[in-house]
Amino acid sequence: MPFETIKLTAKFKLKEIPNGLDDLFSTYREIVNFLITHAYENNITSFKRLKKETYKSLRKEYPELPSHCIYTACQMATAIYKSYRKRKRKGKANGRPVFKKEVIMLDDHLFKLDLEKRIIKLSTPNGRVVLEFYPAKYHEKFRDWKVGQAWLVRTPKGVFINVVFSKEVEVGEPKAFVGVDLNENNVTLSLPNGEFVQIITHEREIRTGYFLKRRKIQRKIRAGKKRKKLLEKYGERERNRLNDLYHKLANKIVELAGKYGGIALEDLTEIRDSIRYSAEMNGRLHRWSFRKLQSIIEYKAKLRGIKVVFVNPAHTSSLCPVCGEKLSPNGHRVLKCSNCGFEADRDVVGSWNIFLRALKMWGVSVPPESPAMKTGAEKVIRYEWCGGSTRAKSSG
Ligand SMILES: [Zn+2]
Repeated sequence: MPFETIKLTAKFKLKEIPNGLDDLFSTYREIVNFLITHAYENNITSFKRLKKETYKSLRKEYPELPSHCIYTACQMATAIYKSYRKRKRKGKANGRPVFKKEVIMLDDHLFKLDLEKRIIKLSTPNGRVVLEFYPAKYHEKFRDWKVGQAWLVRTPKGVFINVVFSKEVEVGEPKAFVGVDLNENNVTLSLPNGEFVQIITHEREIRTGYFLKRRKIQRKIRAGKKRKKLLEKYGERERNRLNDLYHKLANKIVELAGKYGGIALEDLTEIRDSIRYSAEMNGRLHRWSFRKLQSIIEYKAKLRGIKVVFVNPAHTSSLCPVCGEKLSPNGHRVLKCSNCGFEADRDVVGSWNIFLRALKMWGVSVPPESPAMKTGAEKVIRYEWCGGSTRAKSSG
């Protein structure tokens, strides 16, 4: 069976702040900015070359610093300069690239994580220090995962070490695919047995609610710390609520796809920046949400050994899944094909096209007598989302 890698980041909040952390952050920032400037002036995008040209002088200037700090600073500087160059080409970058954050990238020489003992050993200019962190329940699942890079980060909420974990999983050969169409207020699934499942998420209402709350705060409180704090509080609540919703949704999708072994999502990497993208995304999920939800579905599926494929998203919600003609609106959210008479809800059309494209991509032909090809006979099971559990509302 083929293997695939899953990568996830976990946060570890430190119980105490190590001595000299201020200096360490500012020294590191100084080095990263020196490196960015060097990369910028000599147009260097290679980590190796940047390190080669600067390592000796930096080592001399900062002899007390663990040597791997310079390596990771080179990695960060390369990444920052590369993304700056990309933005610059699109006309989206002004001035020179600068690194302002309180972030230090750590490699396996700079830190050791012990999940059992709940400690992290960190290399600093004052030698190795042992730091305790606040345990979280979700840390448990990473026990048998491989530890990769990490970042030491200071936020208003404290000092964290964010660790990237990876795991190799066996992903089986899919029997069929479940086509998943993500929308702002619902997720629609096209199942290989000819059924459609629609989960009403009410995400738009949740977002609108928080939007109105924020606007009210902005109107009432003109400026200052209190306003900022309140806005942050509600911003975090909204993110938490949506995050929770996405996890539950992803669990449901993975559960429904389990017996088929395959999930098909839309590939939005190609058209992300084009105008067509924003036109197609109109009324659909916010870009951030879309990618976030997709990535949660992807890793949860892989963990269960389910194959995830990404299909071409062009016109998934406007072409007839039966004959390929352009569909025209026929009442509220209903689309009709003037060529073959096919008619369905637009979300059903979207998920159905995604399902069919996945089969085509995987080299499976759709027999004409299969349930998915019968027009007008689709069965839609609708779920109302109520506080985490789904309840079937209607069918037929
Ligand atoms: Zn048609």
